[in-house]
Amino acid sequence: MLKFRRILATLLISGLLATGAVFGDTVKPANVILFIGDGMDEHQITMARNYLLGPEEGLLAMEQLPVRSSVRVQTLLENRPDRFTFIADSANSASTLATGQLTSIGRIATSAGTDFDQPTILQAARESGFLTGLVTTASLTDATPAAFVAHTAHRNCQGPEDMNRAISYAPPSQQCAIDSKQQGGPGSIAEQLIDARVDVLLGGGKKYFAQKNHSGAQLLDQARSQGYQLIDHIGQHDASDQSTEPRLLGLFSPGHLPVEWIGSGNRKAEAVELVSGKPVFAAPFDCLKNPRHNGIPTLAQMTRKALARLSRDPSRGFFLMVEGASIDKQAHRRNPCGQIGELSALDSAVAVGREFAKQHPGTLVIVTADHGQASQILPLPDNYMALTESLQSPQYPPGYYAVLKTRHDDLMAVGYATNAPPQGGWEQHTGVDVPVFLEGIDGLEVPALMSQRDIFRLMREHLQLP
Ligand SMILES: [Zn+2]
Repeated sequence: MLKFRRILATLLISGLLATGAVFGDTVKPANVILFIGDGMDEHQITMARNYLLGPEEGLLAMEQLPVRSSVRVQTLLENRPDRFTFIADSANSASTLATGQLTSIGRIATSAGTDFDQPTILQAARESGFLTGLVTTASLTDATPAAFVAHTAHRNCQGPEDMNRAISYAPPSQQCAIDSKQQGGPGSIAEQLIDARVDVLLGGGKKYFAQKNHSGAQLLDQARSQGYQLIDHIGQHDASDQSTEPRLLGLFSPGHLPVEWIGSGNRKAEAVELVSGKPVFAAPFDCLKNPRHNGIPTLAQMTRKALARLSRDPSRGFFLMVEGASIDKQAHRRNPCGQIGELSALDSAVAVGREFAKQHPGTLVIVTADHGQASQILPLPDNYMALTESLQSPQYPPGYYAVLKTRHDDLMAVGYATNAPPQGGWEQHTGVDVPVFLEGIDGLEVPALMSQRDIFRLMREHLQLP
């Protein structure tokens, strides 16, 4: 770690200015594009690569970044903030990326147990003159984007109507009421997103912004009066790029955006049944485009739109976070096609980010994840059947299982086993380290194992924030 810090210090004195970096004789704005694949551990990446590109030599766009390392995800206990737990959620994990500080599950940039606001990199960047943006396939009020701007005791405090609703599974210290405006708090996440005047907000969650604040004003009207241009679609020649409104709020769905892919016949993983003492495996299936995604912008389109807006003023740098949110959400639902399609969508957005970085030296591109997910690549049915025969006892995976026919006609089996059939409502996160891919760190040596706090420091140093 010492070495890492020393190199960061060298980077600091090597010519970075407040919002710019020297390239040749010119000063270019310093930019950060942080991509977060929610639940995108190495297993999810391997699954997507196997499905999309086959087993031989293909690389995803994110895997073409020059540096790859691993990241430790750290989570504190709410009732014992001096102790750790080994499973994170998106709220505490994104909070650490955003603030450089650890916290407990469910918290949005507030401290475990004590509920102090933890300042975020987006807020610091804004105060130092950078433009800022958040792009997600989830509701903009969902945990990952929220953690870069809002400060609430719990991720569920998404809109004004949530603020007096009890959260049955959260402790008293994490109920939303303590953050409500009536009690002198900063208000719901949606209110805080608008109050923070983030320059570009693109994603889902219109239903939260359609709610009224405590003085009866609809948040959408409040956004308009704070200089937001509102859009609900992204077209090829839309007028929003010429708009004189300083800020952009794009809401493309009432809640999370529909996912890009589904399984053919809407199939997901299923529990393996036993018939006469032998496992019966469901037939393989492949993935199709989800018709419900028609008319919804892709993450790549939203990223391109955000980059166009944030680079309109060539003298200012920016901080942009782009989230592929539903890799996680679909893994919870044991929907392998859903999660592979969303990982592919994030990868296309990464390609857009890299293209931008190539034309804009001084852009740091980081791709990482917030925690592990449940799905694993498992042996194929033939293997289990052969073992069943030779051992004379049924051999099969204990949870939910699917066999996918990949684009290269290979078969890939995917299993989920963090919550048992038939009652297991959904899959759980897992505690594995997550990957990080980096570009634009200019020869900086990166240790083989980083922490999320290191990623925060890297971004802060790149933008030269106090
Ligand atoms: Zn999750």
